[in-house]
Amino acid sequence: VAKPDALLVADGVTRRFGGLTAVRVDHLEIQRGAITALIGPNGAGKSTLFNVLSGFDRADAGSWSFDGHDISKRPAHRVARRGMVRTFQLTKTLSRLSVMENMKLAARHQRGERLALAVLRPLWRSQEREIERRADELLERFRLSHMRDEYAGTLSGGQRKLLEMARALMVRPTMVMLDEPMAGVNPALTQSLLGHITELRDEGMTVCFVEHDMDVVMGISDWVVCMAEGEVVAEGPPRAIGKNPAVIDAYLGK
Ligand code: ADP
Ligand code: MG
Repeated sequence: VAKPDALLVADGVTRRFGGLTAVRVDHLEIQRGAITALIGPNGAGKSTLFNVLSGFDRADAGSWSFDGHDISKRPAHRVARRGMVRTFQLTKTLSRLSVMENMKLAARHQRGERLALAVLRPLWRSQEREIERRADELLERFRLSHMRDEYAGTLSGGQRKLLEMARALMVRPTMVMLDEPMAGVNPALTQSLLGHITELRDEGMTVCFVEHDMDVVMGISDWVVCMAEGEVVAEGPPRAIGKNPAVIDAYLGK
């Protein structure tokens, strides 16, 4: 039985690629208003689990609900409309468009418009203004306002990660799933990204993020879930998880 403050509850989630079972998660709960870190060695199935839960990939089996609604077979834009959005390990910014255009496209894409249509079809003036207002607010928050009209391709790796997070927030989600938000980011920007993540949590948002760096995980997580070979092998509060034998096994390889 799921705890009363579970926002996302998943059961029996399986994803196979040919003979490989990339994900077989018996049970997973993500607590509302908390930061949950998803850890585990390369190939553990973390990204695949994100893909499946967020509707970017199909599962072979399993069911999961978000905020009490079954979203198991919903495509990504319907999941986003329910309030759950995700970012990708490799950022999806469009380098030949401006930062602002990337923000505006994200808003329409997450609402289910096909990308080509969203690029070509104008919106009503009032809708456009509302989206721009929201985008400017987020660019300000992530300190990207000065890059607003520059090509996204001119952003540094870290700034691209910030833009990716800003884009995810365009639909005012209740939960964000961040796949390695700190990967390839310099230490100064890492601190700022961590600050943004805790700030979102403090505002009541639910955050689930994939991360390798244990110091980072220990520093900001309320709960840690460890995957290995597709399964959840351990979970617990950050202080306990580093000493958990299953976690040590997972990282050292059995
Ligand atoms: P993680 O994010 O934990 O590093 P992934 O979810 O990316 O792990 O991958 C889990 C396993 O599934 C890996 O063995 C990977 O090679 C495999 N895998 C992931 N995506 C695909 C795919 N589209 N086709 C075939 N195998 C895949
Ligand atoms: Mg991954």
